[in-house]
Amino acid sequence: MSSPASAPPPAAAGLLPQLVIARKRDGASLSRDEIAAFVRGATDRSWADYQLSALLMAICLRGMTSEETAWLTEAMLHSGIVAQLDSVRLPKADKHSTGGVGDKISLHLAPMVAACGVAVPMISGRGLGHTGGTLDKLESIPGFRVGLSLAEYRAQLERIGVALIGQTPELAPADRKLYALRDVTGTVESIPLICASILSKKLAEGIDVLVLDVKFGRGAFMPDRTRAKELALALTAVARAMGKPVRAVMTSMDEPLGHTVGNALEVAESIACLRGAGPADVMAVTYALGEQMLLLAGAAADAATARVRLEESIASGAALEKFRAIVAAQGGDVRVVDDPGQLPRAPRQVVVPSPTDGWVRDVDPRAIALTALRLGAGRIRAEDPIDPAVGIGSLAKVGTRVSRGQPLAVVHARDSAAAAVAATAVAAAILIGDQPVSPPALIDEIIG
Ligand code: URA
Repeated sequence: MSSPASAPPPAAAGLLPQLVIARKRDGASLSRDEIAAFVRGATDRSWADYQLSALLMAICLRGMTSEETAWLTEAMLHSGIVAQLDSVRLPKADKHSTGGVGDKISLHLAPMVAACGVAVPMISGRGLGHTGGTLDKLESIPGFRVGLSLAEYRAQLERIGVALIGQTPELAPADRKLYALRDVTGTVESIPLICASILSKKLAEGIDVLVLDVKFGRGAFMPDRTRAKELALALTAVARAMGKPVRAVMTSMDEPLGHTVGNALEVAESIACLRGAGPADVMAVTYALGEQMLLLAGAAADAATARVRLEESIASGAALEKFRAIVAAQGGDVRVVDDPGQLPRAPRQVVVPSPTDGWVRDVDPRAIALTALRLGAGRIRAEDPIDPAVGIGSLAKVGTRVSRGQPLAVVHARDSAAAAVAATAVAAAILIGDQPVSPPALIDEIIG
């Protein structure tokens, strides 16, 4: 628990934390000033951790009106600076995903959209719970730097129209403090808190428009569709209230996206997408999100035109060249772009065979994600290092016809013991049925 010893007394801000906490505990709506005092308290340490945590719990239990949520977002956004990207002449669009399994879409979507003449200032996160993070994936490219300063970020956007970086200390610092407390106080699952956390960071990037991929299903951060829709409605309402054109695409996540889960494996799959060899499910979600980015940014008059432009970015090689430019600008080894064999490779590969003839009926995304995490692809504790090479590749998709002995997946592991444990877990996560199965529908609804 931090001590507020060196901080100004709370009364100096005019509002006592215990009174604000008690009002929310009793179900009142907080005023803009009370919310501002709370957020200031998180950044200048005039509120103790136990007071911040108590109000977080009260918000979690009592909720917030959309007006309160917008004030919270606004206060968190202005707890730091908002990147000034006026010198970037292109319209600026970003995409944020609420998180899923095998979700590598940012890696190839950003250069595709940039190749269509829309700048993509993308500030991403690391793995959260069972879901992977864009930064961890990018760092599997040898030398790739995600820790650019805001000045470097702006200069790269001016030069090549796209940058893929990590959170900087100046942007939305209140979220860093509040998210760390939420993580250890059982207060992550609150729609107003999630909404303010996501939007304060995204709006600080200096974007003009935002597209959200709100996932639901067993592999998603928020599995229940009704709750996910509530989140999508809250996110779009608050972003609009703050003057930001926004659209949310609700997508289902009942099996992993694509054929890979694991950092270097996912980078290789994204490069395949840029070469026109992406899996159908990954490309369906990529195009749905890319279309909305081009539409909102005014770079296409309708979804069909946007789709053609995005397809052309791949067919012409322009998107792949943009990806090469990003890797070069951020210090990565550009050889991986032409030869993904240069990415880190795990020493042990073990095939998981189909136990029978039939059709793939289910691939449990959470079980696959947890297996990848235990192999070292994600973190069990925040300070754990990531192993970029390990994971699960060549994953069969729901609906595929298989024969006995045919590979359902390949486990990439550090050693034989880890490979054997993971292979057993992957085999248990994939069900084979004796009837044909249709692949699940992915694009559910577009909101906004
Ligand atoms: N992702 C975020 O950035 N914040 C949340 O609160 C939840 C998911």
